[in-house]
Order: sequence, then structure tokens, then C-alpha cells
Amino acid sequence: MEYVMDHTPCPQLKKCGGCQMQHIPYVRQLEIKQGKVNALMGKFCRVEPIIGMDEPYHYRNKVQAAFGTDARGKVISGVYQSSSHRIVCVDDCMLEDKTADRIIVDIRRMLPQFKLSAYDERRGTGWLRHVLVKRSFSTGEVMVVLVAATPIFKLQKPFLAELLRRHPEITTVLLNVNNKATSLVLGKQEKVLHGKGYIEDVLCGQRFRISAKSFYQINPVQTEKLYGTAIAFAGLTGSEKVLDAYCGTGTIGLAASRFAGEVAGVELNADAVRDAIANAKCNGVKNCWFTCADAGRFMTEMAAQGENCDVVFMDPPRAGSDRAFLSALLHMAPKRVVYVSCNPETLARDVAVLTDGGYRVKRVQPVDMFPHTEHVECVVLLSRT
Ligand code: SAH
Repeated sequence: MEYVMDHTPCPQLKKCGGCQMQHIPYVRQLEIKQGKVNALMGKFCRVEPIIGMDEPYHYRNKVQAAFGTDARGKVISGVYQSSSHRIVCVDDCMLEDKTADRIIVDIRRMLPQFKLSAYDERRGTGWLRHVLVKRSFSTGEVMVVLVAATPIFKLQKPFLAELLRRHPEITTVLLNVNNKATSLVLGKQEKVLHGKGYIEDVLCGQRFRISAKSFYQINPVQTEKLYGTAIAFAGLTGSEKVLDAYCGTGTIGLAASRFAGEVAGVELNADAVRDAIANAKCNGVKNCWFTCADAGRFMTEMAAQGENCDVVFMDPPRAGSDRAFLSALLHMAPKRVVYVSCNPETLARDVAVLTDGGYRVKRVQPVDMFPHTEHVECVVLLSRT
């Protein structure tokens, strides 16, 4: 088969490292990802054809830019060059939401006008470290988070007035203070400067609150396909006791709650749990509850108390799950486990523990959540034999 390139390559391709596969035609990218999942998961079960995107561009609803100055003292913004702290200028990126990119460029242009400085990492001087923009593609709401080294925001009022004049689509602005020498973007302290401090998105027919710090899937078009697959795999009939582990803002559990008896969610990030509880309330969902805890510890306690459930959704971070969680899961022995994973390596490792413990893999569905990058997401259905 001959492959045709479907876009002009990004001028920052070599320096940025954000999209490792963009020099490869999209159809071929999907074949490569399919091959990777086949190699890791094919031993358990036949892998279904990957679900790709029709329009694999500008899919990211969350954009983050680092701020700094160049050798001549001019403010720059963009991404860190891979494995370094040198900023590569990015004004528009083929993965990122266009509105978010325009807002970031405008903030960069406005800084000198308002005598605000960008942070200098080596010297530890200056003010603005990062700008984070989250936009809901369904409601159009936009959140801007200014991450600064100090809470002192000179000319805050006129700066905000000008930003909102240029971008009336912005619905909320926050100031986050990060005064630590860290590669983490957000600091602990957060102050709402404009609007309600969060945005709302509609996904699978439900409204979800997104705050600055809580995890939310970055590709909404594919997320609906991902969650749809996970819920279909769960085979719910209306009466099941469901556990949503690593639940973030409760999205999978809430979307599944219509088809289940009751849903318990567990999540480590307190902000995400707060959002999950608000999400249940705002959607009028009465059969879900959420706990802020380490998922492994929570499961171990549940197993020790003799609690059981019928279906477990698990969606851990890239590092995968842990022994405590998997042992407790085997002990509780739910009928079905739906494992959503953003890292096929740790997925294969964890699935091997579950198959050794008496489960069989029934379905493996890769989903392309991150076109042009090397990442691939998978949904796996395991049933007790
Ligand atoms: N299911 C959610 C979130 C998936 S991301 C969604 O689709 O949006 C993984 C989540 O696991 C993150 O919210 C992260 O905060 C949480 N997490 C990480 N380690 C954890 C742990 N040890 N216990 C519970 N949750 C954890």
C-alpha cells in the first residue's frame, strides 16, 4: 500500500518532540499502534481494529504553555524541548485547540504592555511561569489559569479587562501560585480572578465540571467512543454493583450509572473527587458515591470487610495498577473487569496477574486518543472463568 502524507509537517517537529509520529501518514500511524497492541495483548485475545479519528487535528481541549525569555530578553512561550528546559516557541500546534493557542499568544503579547515579566527558571526571577487553557468543545466555556511565581499581580484589573476584551469566550480566569523549583506546572495555591473557577463540558449526554487541577480526558471526540466501548463491555443490566477505580471526576462511573444498580468511585486527587460529587449532583444521579483514597488501599479494605461487586472499571495512570489493588480485586472476584489503559505495557503486565488469578480476556479494543503521538489507549474486558 502506498501512503500519502495528509498534512504539511510542523516547523518545530525536530525540536518539540510532542508528536513523535507526525511525519508518518495517519493511516500508517494507526497500523503501527495496532501492531504495538497486537504484540503486547495478542497473546491474551484477538485484538479488534483500532478506532481512529476522522479529523485527527486540533483535538486537544487542554493546552499548556511554558513562559520564559530568549537571549535578547523577549518573552517567549511554548513547550520544553524534549528532556531539557529550553522553551521551543509554539504559536499554533496541529494537536491543540486553536482558540487556546490564540489566547496564549495574546497573553504573551500583552505581558510587556502591562509591565509583567516571564519567569526565569535559572535565576528564579520574574513572574509568569505557565499558562494553562482548558476549553469545552460542547459548551464553549474557556478556563485560563495564569501560573505565576508570586501572588502579587500588578495591574491585575486592566490586564484582565484587556484579556476579556480580546477573548470574550473566556468564562473563568484563575491565578495559581507556584513558587517551588519544580517541573510540576501547578502549585498548591489557587485564586479565582474571574467567573466560577471551573468550566463545564457535556460528554455522553451528561454535564461534567472541570477544574484546574483535576484530570479530564483531553480528546473529547475519542473519549465518547472510549467510554461507550467500556460501558458496552461491562454488559450492565440495571442491577449491578459497580466500582469505578481511578475515577478522576467520576466520568466513567456516572456515564455507566444509568445502566447499573449502584456505582462506587475511588480516586486519590481530592479536587477530582470534589468534582465527581458535584457532577453526580448536577446530573441528578442518586446511585453513585465517591471516596478520596488510594485505590489499592480502598480495595484491600473492601475485600477485608467481605464487600463484593459485579463489575469493576479500572483506569489507572501510565504506571498501571499495583499489587495491592490486583490482589484485592482477585479476592473480591467480580464477574467482569473493564480495564481502560493509556499504556499497553503496564496493561499487559497487570492483565497477566489477572489471567493467572482466574480471569480470561474476552475483548481488546484499541482507541487512538492521541493522534500523531506514540501513545495508544486500550479497553480490555476480562471475565471470570
Ligand atoms: N477515569 C478517569 C480518570 C483516569 S486518569 C477519566 O476517564 O477521566 C487516572 C486517575 O487516577 C487520575 O485521576 C489520578 O488522579 C488517579 N490516581 C492516580 N493514582 C491513584 C491511586 N493510587 N489511587 C486512586 N487514584 C489514583
